[in-house]
Amino acid sequence: MSTLETVTGSCHCGNVRFTTTVDLTSTISCNCSICRKSGMILTFVPATAFSLETDPDALTDYQFNKRVIHHLFCRTCGVRAFGRGTAQDGSEMVAINVRCLDGVDLDTLTPHSVDGASA
Ligand SMILES: [Zn+2]
Repeated sequence: MSTLETVTGSCHCGNVRFTTTVDLTSTISCNCSICRKSGMILTFVPATAFSLETDPDALTDYQFNKRVIHHLFCRTCGVRAFGRGTAQDGSEMVAINVRCLDGVDLDTLTPHSVDGASA
């Protein structure tokens, strides 16, 4: 069952803040090279369901491998609150780091394990 809710999120220092609409019954934990080191729990939303409330210049973009995903992080505190990419159908997507959302009880989440390391 899908349960959409509008939530706010931020990096640690607050220079990066956003509002988004997410389905927290659909989260993933991935074992790829960057997710395992960043310790993220992710959920994916269309770019139209994501609104950055702060200056985009607060973010630094990190890219590797095929350079199709923008692994953004706060240039001040280094927290990776979200990233941007493109879905297989070409639509713009945002990967939200659920750990950066306000008021979410992480113990209630049931992240689905994704084997990104083998993808
Ligand atoms: Zn920050």
